[in-house]
Amino acid sequence: FAINMDQLVLEQELGRGNYGTVKKVLHRPTNVEMAMKEIRLELDSSKLNGILMELDILHRAISPYIVEFYGAFFVESCVYYCMEYMDGGSLASLCCFPNGNVSLPPSLSTSPGSAWTSSPAPLADEHLGRIASSMTHGLEFLKSELGVMHRDVKPTNVLVNLRGQVKLCDFGVSGQLEKSIAKTNVGCQSYMAPERIKGSSPSGSNMEDAFTSYTVSADVWSLGLSIVEIARGRYPYPPETYENVFAQLSAIVDGEAPGLPEDDEVTEEAEIEFHATGWSSTHKGKRRWSPEARDWVRQCLIKNADERATYKELLEHPWMQADRQREVNMTDIAAQASKLSPLHSVILSFVLALRAVYFF
Ligand code: ATP
Ligand code: MG
Repeated sequence: FAINMDQLVLEQELGRGNYGTVKKVLHRPTNVEMAMKEIRLELDSSKLNGILMELDILHRAISPYIVEFYGAFFVESCVYYCMEYMDGGSLASLCCFPNGNVSLPPSLSTSPGSAWTSSPAPLADEHLGRIASSMTHGLEFLKSELGVMHRDVKPTNVLVNLRGQVKLCDFGVSGQLEKSIAKTNVGCQSYMAPERIKGSSPSGSNMEDAFTSYTVSADVWSLGLSIVEIARGRYPYPPETYENVFAQLSAIVDGEAPGLPEDDEVTEEAEIEFHATGWSSTHKGKRRWSPEARDWVRQCLIKNADERATYKELLEHPWMQADRQREVNMTDIAAQASKLSPLHSVILSFVLALRAVYFF
């Protein structure tokens, strides 16, 4: 069925990204709650049908590891993209505040509210394993069933629902759409593999290379980096700064690849996390990542793309074999993410606004 704006009742805003806003909507004819993403475009109207045709492939993306696509339509210069509503929100809200190096102003860090005072559910090795396996299955599905790579694997594009399912969203199937997105803000945390950074144009835009020079193993890097970020609770590379806009990109290209934190490292990192979230108490010294988990992540974050693990190898890895053999209760994790989600979007908007002003 074709969806249009008249059938939708707007509910609340779910979050904001670099390119637009995501809102919860009710689709009246079917009574289905959906998430609607608004993306501002810069293009002439002749290209609109081409984009809709390219997006059509999404109707075939039916997998327990992929957020379902319901339909897309245009109004003026925006594309509205309707997808399955994931009531737990993104994994980023559970763990990853935008750039752990940024300290919050006192007014925000002392603000009351249950989300601030409740402790996040501690993420255990088995939870991380289930997240990793769901993401890998999702990526493998995109590649083998649809013949596409994701191109934007990162914690905000991994969503959970209160049934404990973990699904991927926002994969790039439409080259035309990618090219037409009106960028309001460039990404400040790069999940791009070293070969993608090296291959992109000097202007710093990765749009030109978006459909050419790198392969599916670039997604494997981003997968590993996302798992490290979720485990650490922060993005593992230094931020771009006004003095050194390439600090982050050169660390990715020239530096050593990050891994899961050592047990004592966790305690140290906890000290610099946001105390008001209860984050520190759950992070301190409690984490123990299995040797299998560490090795799995290492296989993803091999800097030489040719040596990096394939999806098949990742799925056959002992960490994933262990995952298949155990019951993992993800519902508490999802409930925690859903509580923290609104807070995360407030912080994210705030940091993006600050960044626009101060460029850190
Ligand atoms: P970027 O713009 O760089 O891709 P992003 O992924 O954070 O960053 P959006 O894709 O616009 O930006 O999503 C913004 C937020 O909206 C997400 O972080 C998530 O919390 C929420 N969100 C997105 N899609 C859904 C969905 N299907 N169900 C529930 N929440 C969603
Ligand atoms: Mg997204």
